[in-house]
Amino acid sequence: MDTVITTSVVEAAENIKKGGIVAFPTETVYGLGADIFNEKAIAKVFWAKGRPADNPLIAHIGNLYQIEVLTAVIDSRTNAFIEKFFPGPLTIVLEKSESVPLIATAGLETIGIRMPKHDLALGFLSSCEHPLVAPSANLSGKPSPTDWKAVYADLNGKIDCILKGQTTEIGLESTVLDCTGEIPLVLRKGAVSIEDLQELVPETEIYSSVDPKTPKSPGLKHKHYSPTAKVVIVTDTDDIDLSDEKCAFIGLNKPKQDFTVVRILDTSEEYARNLYSFFRYCDEKKIATIYCQTVEETGIGAALIDRLSRAAN
Ligand code: AMP
Ligand code: MG
Repeated sequence: MDTVITTSVVEAAENIKKGGIVAFPTETVYGLGADIFNEKAIAKVFWAKGRPADNPLIAHIGNLYQIEVLTAVIDSRTNAFIEKFFPGPLTIVLEKSESVPLIATAGLETIGIRMPKHDLALGFLSSCEHPLVAPSANLSGKPSPTDWKAVYADLNGKIDCILKGQTTEIGLESTVLDCTGEIPLVLRKGAVSIEDLQELVPETEIYSSVDPKTPKSPGLKHKHYSPTAKVVIVTDTDDIDLSDEKCAFIGLNKPKQDFTVVRILDTSEEYARNLYSFFRYCDEKKIATIYCQTVEETGIGAALIDRLSRAAN
């Protein structure tokens, strides 16, 4: 298949309407979209990514009215989250409406819903007839794509179209918040922090599964976010004992040792924005070990530490 690369939201949306699958930028990472009511197109998304069938997809909307298509009931607490954080890097999990096909939710009776805060994404989503399901536009198991070239490297020839935009602003996947139970639960950390959520609804908690085999967020049990290189998290750069292998370093403070590749960032936000492209770069350069400096666990730092820990495992 020829993958069309375009900057036109109309052309990208035409591909969706014809049953195709289209990668598009958002403020978090690039997504791979399919019409939520087209089961064949959704199956193609799973196929192109090599995504396990038990990993649910997030519905992306271009306007708030589309929420009603996806879910039957919204309580006042959920409404408060929507009012404060939509559009933005927050996915809210709610009971799904009957019209949403089970292939989209990997068999779950719930659906994750998000409205990206990104002009090109919103223009594209608004040009499509229905909401889209869109996981990250990478091969399963690889770091999520933060620029169109990473999408191209993973999926060229397997998807119908790439809507070409800028490098993504945040660089980590959305926060996932389950609002189906008595208290709101954070299933995945992201740019909307636990502090942000608790400011609005103080009883919000971070979900921790007792049984790792049956997590509430099925996708999280799969290997994620990891480069081929080994990832080691370090607190103090002085403790790094460099071997003969090719090693890389990413963090906020310049280390003394001689690494093959070094990336120093000024803030945790910049670190998050650059992490996945750095992982991909290190794999291209055949780096054996990537040392990642840890950060303070507040704001985006909590999400960053979460992704580093998953990559290191
Ligand atoms: P991705 O779009 O690739 O970042 O992956 C989406 C992730 O969101 C999945 O791996 C799940 O962990 C989570 N997710 C999506 N839908 C649901 C849902 N209905 N219930 C719980 N978690 C969900
Ligand atoms: Mg993903």
